[in-house]
Formats: sequence, structure tokens, C-alpha cells
Amino acid sequence: MAGFSAPTSLGFGQVKSPVMYRVDYRDGAWQQGRALPYQNIEIDPAAKVLHYAQEVFEGLKAYKIDNPRANFFRPLDNHDRLNFSARRMCMPEIPADLFMEGISVVTALSEPLIPTQAGQSLYLRPFMIGLTGALGMGPSSEYAFIVIASPSEAYHAGEMKVLIEREGCRAAVGGTGAAKTGGNYAAATESAQRTQAMGYHQSLWLDPRNMKDIEELSGMNVFALIDGELHTPRLTPSFLKGITRDSVIQLARHKGYEVVERTMPIEELLADIKSGSCVEAFACGTAAIVSPISDIAEADGTAYELSQSDVVAAELRRGLLDIQERRTEDPFGWTSEVEDQFYQLALAG
Ligand SMILES: *Cc1c(COP(=O)(O)O)cnc(C)c1O
Repeated sequence: MAGFSAPTSLGFGQVKSPVMYRVDYRDGAWQQGRALPYQNIEIDPAAKVLHYAQEVFEGLKAYKIDNPRANFFRPLDNHDRLNFSARRMCMPEIPADLFMEGISVVTALSEPLIPTQAGQSLYLRPFMIGLTGALGMGPSSEYAFIVIASPSEAYHAGEMKVLIEREGCRAAVGGTGAAKTGGNYAAATESAQRTQAMGYHQSLWLDPRNMKDIEELSGMNVFALIDGELHTPRLTPSFLKGITRDSVIQLARHKGYEVVERTMPIEELLADIKSGSCVEAFACGTAAIVSPISDIAEADGTAYELSQSDVVAAELRRGLLDIQERRTEDPFGWTSEVEDQFYQLALAG
């Protein structure tokens, strides 16, 4: 880490922390984990991850705003979800202590680089890949679990214009949509490019069976304020169960909002925007926190403008950040400091 200083403009996920963590799985067991200087990894060109996309990942942040010690937000929920994704992709589960060791060691060693202004954080990217070098179908027998990190700004999309995706699907019925796995992003990239070429920020995905009900954006969940209540799509097997989504639901209820999880037909939402029942909509995810949506549009240019922007979204963003950055009481027990033992580990390798 000597000689490394972060540039003044961080962006999101662009600057990488000079440390990483790696633990390998072989002979049916997880081996000893190690902190390492950030470095290339060498893998067999026939490794399963390269050909059959046997990969799962997570995204979470360590915050260090006006506190001597960095803290996490709901890290064990990320651990649970990583294992859920791993089961779906026929990969071994990782024990909670190894997951916590990985994110804690990387955070402790990156501590001098963690930016300290509200909205900034150390974005952590734990991931697991299948390494067995054999071109036959089937799961790997060797894996690596790796954690890398990036000192980041808040991912500020500002107001987002979203385009309803009526043709493509990011995840199929019976597919891997509820797992956090690279293949879902591969499937979404073409739509994202088209959407951006048309001047919009994100594609709004519909259910893959009927192409009728709202599911999510490519990396964020969605909410709409309808007649004073917050509505969000009920979870299905084809989209991702966001931890921010769950936090927004709990926080909004705590603040006295009625929150409804239900099937949300896109036509109904568009009618509600037109009639004025729906005045506000927003997206949420670890990277974006809570970001207002200004327009929902069709590919033919028909736009449905939300009349209110960033009122309830701003209230929930502030409330969530106040907990994440430890400015306020945390009635949910969501935050935890990095433990002492991880500060005592020196760089190996
Ligand atoms: C990670 C992710 C989200 C957001 O999940 P959080 O736990 O809130 O960060 C939403 N959708 C997709 C497809 C994702 O990969």
C-alpha cells in the first residue's frame, strides 16, 4: 500500500484498492484464506468460469464517516445471498466466518483509503469462480472466493429516465434471475446499450413469462408511490432480492408508510401515472442507494413523467444513509464495525 494514494475524483468502481483476499476450495474443503497485494489471477484457459459462466458475486459497502473504525451494513445478508446464488450455480457454499474474514481483512487493510465524506464508501466486491479446467459440461471441483474493493463516490445517476424493455429478457422462467451471477448481466447488456443509445439510463424489465409485470432495473429494485402508499414488485424467481429493497421496506414501515409488495402490471402503473395516482417512483440498490426516476418511457418515445421527484425517495435515502453512516440510532441492528482481529493481520504473499 506504500505510495498509493487515491485520486481526488473517485467515480464508482474505477479506483481499486491495492489489496485483495483469496481463499481456494479443493478436495471438498475451503483452504486457508490469505490477504494479498492486488494482482492478476492465473487460471486454466479451460476453466469453467470462462466457458460456462460458473460465477457468483456480491456488492456491499464499508462506511467510515466521522468514525475511527469502518463499519458494514447487513453483511450477513450478503453472505446468505451469496450462498443462495452459489447453490443455484452448483457451487460450494462459503462459511460465514470466511466471508466475514474476506471482507474484513480487505476493509481493514484499505482503511487509509476509505473516503470519509457522506455518500462515499469502500465498495466491496466478493465473488466466487469455478476453476476446474475441463471443457465438459458440469460443475467445477475447484473454486476461488476472492474479495476486491474500490474506494467510491455515491453512484449518482441523479434523476433516472427508464425505458420499458418490451422485447428482451434478462432472465428466463426457471432461469437464474434471482441469483447474483454474471450471466444475468451478460443477458442485459444488449438492452442496456440500446436504452442508453436512446437517451435513457436503465431498462425496466418485465416478467419473462407474460412480459406484463414489472420486475426490476438491471441492477436496482423499483418502488412507486401510489395514493400515498409505497408499492414494489413482489419477489419472483426471475429477479434479484435486493438488500436495499428489504431495508427500504422496513425503514418506510418504521416511518409510518404503508408498503405493499404485489404483482405490478406495467399497464396499471402507466395508467396510475397518467391519472395522477402515482406521483413518484425510485430505484434502490447498494451502489445507487435510493435514486429518483423522472420518466418511464416506451421505445416509440411515449413518456410518462412522474409529477413529483425525490421527495419520499430523498427522505428514505437520508434515513438509510443516516443508519449506514452511523449518524443516528440503528433500530434494526443493521450496522457492525470491522472487528479488531482483522486489523492485526499483515499482508502475506
Ligand atoms: C445487486 C443487485 C440489486 C440490488 O441489490 P442490493 O442488495 O440492494 O444491492 C438489484 N438487482 C440486481 C440484478 C442486482 O444484481
